[in-house]
Amino acid sequence: PTLFANVPLGPVDPILGVSTAFKADTDPRKVDTSVGAYRDENGKPYVLKCVYEAEKRLLGAPKEYLPIDGIPEFNKLSAKLLYGDAMNGKEKRMVTVQALSGTGALRIGIIFIRKYLPAGTVVYISRPSWTNHHNICKESGIQSAEYAYYDPKTKGLDFTGMINDMKAAPNGSVFVLHLCAHNPTGVDPTHEQWNVIADVMREKNHIPFMDCAYQGYASGDLDYDAYSARLFLNRGFEMFSAQSYSKNFGLYGERTGALTIVSHREDVIPKMLSQLKMDIRAMYSSPPTHGARLVTTVLSDPELTALWVKELKEMSGRIKDVRQKVLDALIARKVPGNWEHIVNQIGMFTYTGLTKPQVDILVNKYHIYLLGSGRVSLAGLNNKNIDYFADAVLDAVT
Ligand code: PLP
Repeated sequence: PTLFANVPLGPVDPILGVSTAFKADTDPRKVDTSVGAYRDENGKPYVLKCVYEAEKRLLGAPKEYLPIDGIPEFNKLSAKLLYGDAMNGKEKRMVTVQALSGTGALRIGIIFIRKYLPAGTVVYISRPSWTNHHNICKESGIQSAEYAYYDPKTKGLDFTGMINDMKAAPNGSVFVLHLCAHNPTGVDPTHEQWNVIADVMREKNHIPFMDCAYQGYASGDLDYDAYSARLFLNRGFEMFSAQSYSKNFGLYGERTGALTIVSHREDVIPKMLSQLKMDIRAMYSSPPTHGARLVTTVLSDPELTALWVKELKEMSGRIKDVRQKVLDALIARKVPGNWEHIVNQIGMFTYTGLTKPQVDILVNKYHIYLLGSGRVSLAGLNNKNIDYFADAVLDAVT
């Protein structure tokens, strides 16, 4: 007998499950376009040169515990990286804590919302979104709901639907907004649309929770990509942001990120920090050292920062190049349908519009792994496999 006989088998994570199946596949033609992690031209994971250099400098650094809220300099640099000039003296009304990457930052932020925003506050998540958003809300004991976002007909933004849902939501709701490079669709609002979103959110007293997993990764320009968060800060919102250094620094497994909360008042900040620290203390006591030290080393050295910016441009540039090559390859094969959205979408992913049966053909017949939703991570494609990919899409679609 066991105490655990009634433990039900949970579902496999839709993203990580596909990646496990890829690893188990022994076919030499296999291609992984499932996981949201950068691969170089040879399909290999990439350690950024600026990180490598920082790592050399950090060799032998002490392994002592960090403060509960992390490295103070890291927190300052993180807030500055995201909010830039929009900070403009608002530092005193902001609290930043180091977090276990983007996921951990979202989690602490959502728990804070459950505890300290009015009972019944609902967290709105785009339809579709990164699947973990709903998990995080559920496990944090807060109700989540969806707002319209993607229009399958145009393979673009359902802006009207989004605005209508924002208007229909109860006043003071939390809206999780992707800073840029929306996952999984690759569809972002334009700057004009962000301004309308901010107007409506203001009218409704909604609270932006910016999920910043791809700053610098979408356009290759850190400031351009931060437009939406800076807009909300400039407009005087009280807001949350969860930053991840997984993609833009390639620090995936180092679990490096930050949560920032902006208030209207300075005097509440020490109290907010004290509560964040109590939650962190009870969950994991203090954050990991290495990734945050790497980011701090790079961001506090102008030369390393310049190298980082250059590498970000290279990574995002390669992905843009892949988008164009995939489109060209599909057009060359006269694959039925319009595929322009592949170059119009932005960031690491394209929401191809392939149906589940078409995805199954790619996976089962061609060993090309992608999500059931048709989301392709362009980082997994390169000059060696784009033709193979396009052949497979032609077969699946016709
Ligand atoms: N938010 C979005 C939209 C993401 O795509 C990801 C990663 O894929 C994350 C947050 C968090 O990732 P991490 O916890 O590795 O920082």
